[in-house]
Amino acid sequence: MSISNSKELLIKATAEKYAVGAFNVTNIAQMAAVIETAAELKAPVIIQTSVAPVKQLTPELFAAAFRNIAERVDISVAIQLDHCTSIDLCKRCIDAGYTSIMIDASKETLEDNIRITKTVVDYARENNDVSIEGELGTVGGVEDQVRVVMSQVELCDPQNALKFIEETGLDNFAPAIGTAHGIYKSNNPEIDIDRLKIIAKLINGGKVVAPLVIHGGSGLSEQIVRDLVFSGGSKFNVSTELKHVWIKGAEEYIINAPKEFNPVKMNRVQMDLTMKLVHSWIDRLGSSGKSGV
Ligand SMILES: [Zn+2]
Repeated sequence: MSISNSKELLIKATAEKYAVGAFNVTNIAQMAAVIETAAELKAPVIIQTSVAPVKQLTPELFAAAFRNIAERVDISVAIQLDHCTSIDLCKRCIDAGYTSIMIDASKETLEDNIRITKTVVDYARENNDVSIEGELGTVGGVEDQVRVVMSQVELCDPQNALKFIEETGLDNFAPAIGTAHGIYKSNNPEIDIDRLKIIAKLINGGKVVAPLVIHGGSGLSEQIVRDLVFSGGSKFNVSTELKHVWIKGAEEYIINAPKEFNPVKMNRVQMDLTMKLVHSWIDRLGSSGKSGV
C-alpha cells in the first residue's frame, strides 16, 4: 500500500505519457469497487469526492474508509476533494487526511483566483504533503454545486496559466479547454487540444512543474482521450459515468428481484458495474501496470 498525494502519481504519468483516473464516488461501497479494480490492474488511482457527499458523510469518514481500503492493496492511491469553493472545507479535508484538494475559484477574477488558491496552497504546505489543484477558465456543465452555462464557458489563456501557477505555487493544474461536466450533447464536442499542447509545453516542457488535469472525462471518445493524454493530460476526472452505473445497478437489481429487499445484493450489482466501467477507463488511460509500488 502506498498512500500518495496526487502530484507524485501525476509526475510519473506525465513523464511516461499515460494518465491516472480520478473517479468520483459518493459512498464507501463505490470507493471499494474503484480501488479493488485498480489493484487488480496494478494501476495508480485517485479517489475523488465532491462537496455534496463530503457534507453528507463527512471528510473524516471518507478519509478513514479510504485509509482502511488502501492498506489492503498493493498500489499507489490518493484521495482528493473535487471542485471545492470553500477554503474552510478544503482545510477540514486536509486535516481529516485527504492527500489532495481542488480549490475551485475559477469563477472569480484572475487576481482573486490567485489569492484564494494560494491561501489553500499555503495551508497545505504547513500541513503534511498535500497536493493542491487549481483551475483557470471555466468548465461548462454541472458538477455538484458548481454550475456553468455553456455560453459562459471561458477557455484558459496560456500566459495567464503560467502566471497563475507561478504566483500560487499550486501542484496540479486544470486548464479549461472545452471539456464539460455531465454528458456531452454532441458526439463530437469541440475540445481545444492545440490549446492543451501549448499549455503543456509552456508549463511542463522542461521539467514537469504542474501536471495537467482534464475535467469532464465522462462521455469523451476513446480517440479524444488518447489525444488528450498524448498532448499532456495526466489526470482524468470521471464522475457522471460512475453516477449513471451506480443508479443503473440499483434499477437493474430492483427490476430483477422486486420483492427481495437485499441491499447487500443490490450493492454487489452496483459494484460489478462500477468495476467494469473503471476497468475500461484504466485501459483507455494506459495506466494498467503503472503503479509505482
Ligand atoms: Zn470537474
